[in-house]
Formats: sequence, structure tokens, C-alpha cells
Amino acid sequence: MADSGRENNPGERLMTMYPVMLNLRDRRCLVVGGGGVALRKVEGLVAEGALVTVVATEPIGALESLAEKREITLERRVYEPGEISEYTIGFAATDDRDVNIRVFEDGEASGIWVNVADDPELCNFHLPARLRRGALQLVIGSAGEAPFVVRRLRQFLERRFGPEWAEWMEAAGRFRKSVRKQDLANDEKEDRYDRFFSETVDEIGVKARVPTTQEEAEWLAGDKASTEPTTTSSLVTPHDEASVEPLRSGVGFVSLVGAGPGDAGLLTLRGRQRLMAADTVVYDHLAETALPCDLPPQVELHSVGKKAGHHPMPQEEINALLVRLGREGKRVVRLKGGDPFVFGRGGEEAEELAAAGIPYEVVPCVTAAVAVPTYAGISVTHRREVSRVTMVTAHESVKKGGPQVRWDLLAADQNAMLLGYMGVNSLPRVVHQLVSWGMDPKTPAAMVERGTTSKQRVVRSPVAKLPQAVKDAGINPPALFVIGTAVDYADKLDWFGARPLMGERLVVPAPAGDLGEALELSGVDVVEVPLPVTPAARIVMDALPLTGCVFRSADEVEALDDERDGAGWSSEMVAWCLTVDAAERARALRWRHVEQVEASNDAHQLADAIGAWRRTYSANHARPSLR
Ligand code: SAH
Repeated sequence: MADSGRENNPGERLMTMYPVMLNLRDRRCLVVGGGGVALRKVEGLVAEGALVTVVATEPIGALESLAEKREITLERRVYEPGEISEYTIGFAATDDRDVNIRVFEDGEASGIWVNVADDPELCNFHLPARLRRGALQLVIGSAGEAPFVVRRLRQFLERRFGPEWAEWMEAAGRFRKSVRKQDLANDEKEDRYDRFFSETVDEIGVKARVPTTQEEAEWLAGDKASTEPTTTSSLVTPHDEASVEPLRSGVGFVSLVGAGPGDAGLLTLRGRQRLMAADTVVYDHLAETALPCDLPPQVELHSVGKKAGHHPMPQEEINALLVRLGREGKRVVRLKGGDPFVFGRGGEEAEELAAAGIPYEVVPCVTAAVAVPTYAGISVTHRREVSRVTMVTAHESVKKGGPQVRWDLLAADQNAMLLGYMGVNSLPRVVHQLVSWGMDPKTPAAMVERGTTSKQRVVRSPVAKLPQAVKDAGINPPALFVIGTAVDYADKLDWFGARPLMGERLVVPAPAGDLGEALELSGVDVVEVPLPVTPAARIVMDALPLTGCVFRSADEVEALDDERDGAGWSSEMVAWCLTVDAAERARALRWRHVEQVEASNDAHQLADAIGAWRRTYSANHARPSLR
């Protein structure tokens, strides 16, 4: 491929590659190599129903466990010359180029298509990047000319094509079936398909929607359009009005999105969808842990929250920033801790946007007063105990001019559950009020710091003694107080705090897979970080102290090395290495604690090893308490 020649000769035919989609179901495919790259190929092939054989001298654990589950055939040996001829296609991803060349040349000799990872010259087919939305696949290739643009374009499209395209694709499939059932001439069929497409796809906003049953029936019957010819506003469905109508070019749109109280898994689907499609994200300090680590790197990130040593941006400035970004025509996500409208000043931001004529929506999320007690084992409306729940801000008592809390009424209701936001500093005053208005001083109470996260701490005591207990424990904001008889159920229902690895916060390179799930269920806060590391992942990693990293390969150790001076990192972190290579590299890069674990076959093995390690270290007092 002579690039320069082509430039001088614009008339010359541009060689690209012929795109196909292969049906590999039940076809024999060979993968030579046993590392992470091979694994990715294998996973892709298995997902399409191919019969995969892996030939590798030292397969990584993930491959071994696939073999154990009989999803692949794994042969621990060297590649034998000529063997490719027994397969439909082949992949080579070993770190020995001679072997890769061998596979490729054998393929050429026997007419088998071969792809060698990261070696375009040893490929007679390339794998395009792909974007999947259900059955819909968009594939991108550069014929090896500039592979670097491929991934970036994929990320770009990833943001443009929301998850709703999957549902739309399904609806299109159903529609096609219905059309084919009718006895129609070709042009009539095409008319119906045109109608489906133009009514459901907003070509400017790159949005799609699923039609209603009634619409589908109309279009199938070939009824004339009842409204004007299609415009973007025909895409508006009553429940989705705010989110779709404004997405015309040039007009910005702000989503006020709740991030939940800390645990990243509590973000809503809608919230994630908006984040992934955003041009810019304006986030609070408390929302940091919920940022998706796979947020496309080009999304602009604005921190407006309080962080040690920095003042938060004043509310007026945040409002002005949202209005400005909206006016610039951007898709903005304002990511706020908990729920945006519960003691979150989301109402003020919405007012400001409305006044400025900027279209917006609000995406609710679970608020601290619901999720935080839950993670502390307290059911806020436990049936035998509670008939009323009050969410209260304890902060107002120091503010002049706002509504006053009627502590007298709250104190009188023994069956109420009192959930107090922003109450660390004012707790003594609040408790004094409640008890002097007649609340039983023995009423069970708790203060929960950084609930739902690896730093969750729960202090419990009778309400009258809670202020002292909170002071002794050194509880800091954010913390929520919970007062009511149902608090005592935490003895029995401490499902989260009692997890054996509670307090661990580990970086696991994506995809974390079964291992991630096993760790999480053992109580680990798993930060699943894509490599190369994204800016969003950096924010998440630095939001709370990390306790370790899980490495499956030396490359992963390498890829995270530059991150180690981040705010969440410390030299006490443990490198949990699942391979000898990874452990060697971690030692070479001067990790203080390197633990090699044979967890290839069983995701729980790593959790067990971490548990054992913790027991040893806390016994030696060699490590500061993790809680
Ligand atoms: N909009 C948020 C509340 C913001 S006010 C929501 O719906 O949850 C901030 C207060 O919320 C904190 O002072 C604290 O009282 C509470 N809070 C938020 N996250 C918390 C957490 N993870 N643990 C305990 N309290 C939390």
C-alpha cells in the first residue's frame, strides 16, 4: 500500500477491504495464543456460537475456566505446522512473531483466513470495531490505514447511538415480519418501511424510538399520515417529551441526573444513558464514585464539588455554568449525589434553566435517606415499627429565614422514622430538641457515614447518647442520622457491613467479569477500569482510597503504573496478581505488596486469599484499619 503514491495520484483506485459478516455458528475456529488478546478474540467467537479451539503453552486463567466450563477446547501445547487447515478461520495472538508468521503462512497455503493481532501485514482479514445495539451492528474499519481512528470513531458513535436503538431494532424486526405476512406488492412494502423509518428515526438528533402498537397498525394498514410530514417533533412521545423534543441541532439540553449515594451500581439506567451520550458532565464531589469509568474520554468533565482544600463552586456559578453550556448547544449532564430534588438544590438549577429557556429533564435516583439505612441493615418502614418516615435537613436550624423544623411534632411520634441529612455538626442541637420535646432518650438511633461505599461506618446508640458516640467515632460528613425503633433491626439485617471484604476497594481492569462479581458479593468495591485508563476512571479511582489492584497480565500492571500517584492510591495497596508475569512486573515496578493468587478456575479463590491476607495483616497491626 503506497500511501504517498496514492496522494500524488488522486485518480488511482483506493483499495479498501470487502466487508462481510460471518455466521460462525458451529464453525471450527482456531486461536493460537493464550493471553488477554487471545481471550478477547475467544470471547467474541464464543458469543457467536463458534466452536473454538485454543492452542497455547501458557493460557491465562480466564481461558482455563472457559475450558473447564466446556465453552472452548484448550490445548496446552505449541502450534503444530499445518494444523490451521482443519479450521474455518484462525487467529494468532502469541508474543512470538515466528509462530504468528507460521500460522499466517499456513493459512495462506491452505486457503484459510487468518488474522494476527496487531500485525496488519500478517492478516488477510481485519476485525472491524463494532458498535452493538441489540441485533443492530455498526462496524468500522480503516483497511489497516489508520487503526487509531477506528476506536475513536467507535467511541464517537457510542455516544451518538443510545441504547434505545436496540429496542428500535427489535421493533423494526417485528414490523418487517408483520409487513411480510401481508400480501403486498414490493413498492407497498417499501412505503411501509419508509413510514416506519421516517416516523421513528430522528436523523439530526440520531435518536430512535419504538412506535406504539396503534401506530404500527396504522402504518401496516397503509393509512395516510394524520399529521404533517415527519418533523423531529413527531418523535415526541408523551412520556419522553422533555428528552427528545429539544434534541434539535444547535439547541442544548440539560439532564439533572441523580448519582445515588455512592455505590456506583445504584445509578439508574436512564442516568447512565444520559451520561454516555453527554458532551459535558458537571459533577459534585459526592457524585464522583458513580461516574461510569467507561465514559467516553472526550466527554468534558467539570468538577464543581467540594474537595479537601478547595471550596465548592457557589450555587449561582453552577447555575450560570449550566445555562452557558446549554446555550452553547451542548448535551449537558448535571450529576448530583443522591436524588437531584431531595435536599440537592436541583430545584434551583431547574428553575434557572427554565428561566433561561433551556430545555431540561430530571432523572431521579435513590436518595441517601433510603439507600444509606438500607446498606446499614435498617429498613426505613419496617412493618411492625414504622408508620411514618420523615426526611429532614438538620442544616436549616442554622439558616435564617427558611422554614423551621417542628421538632416538637417529630418528637411526639413514636412510630416515626426520622432520617436526617446534613446533621453531623447540628446533631447535639437536634437531639437536645427532640429529647426536650419528649422523645424517649432510649429510642434507637444511628449515624451512617459514607453509606453504600467502602468507607461506610455505622455508629449506633440510644438517641440521647448519639452525639457523644458520633464525636468519639470521629464521624465526618457526609453522614445521615436515623432515629426510630427500626434501627435495632440492624443487628439482624446487616447484609452489607457484614460482608467479609467490606472496606476493600480494588481496581480491576475491564472486563471484570465473574471475578468482579465474586469480589463484589464478598464486599469489595470493584472499580472496573478500562485500559487505557479514561479520565472518568481516574476521577472514580481517586474519589475514595483504593486498597489494591487485580492484575491478570504484565500489560495490565504496566497500563496502570502511571496512575499510582493518584489521590486514591497509596503504597500500602496490594497487587493481586493472577499470573506469574503480572507478579514479576509488579515487583519490578516496586509494588510493596505483591500477592500471586492461583484464581484461574474459581473467582472465589481471590476473595478467599484477600480475606486471609487481611486477617494476617490486621493481626500484625501492620496495616491501618480498612474501615
Ligand atoms: N441529594 C442528596 C442529598 C444531598 S445533601 C440525596 O438525595 O441523597 C448532602 C447530605 O446527604 C449529606 O450531608 C448527608 O447527610 C447525606 N448523604 C449523601 N450521601 C450520603 C452517604 N453516602 N452516606 C451518608 N449520608 C449521605
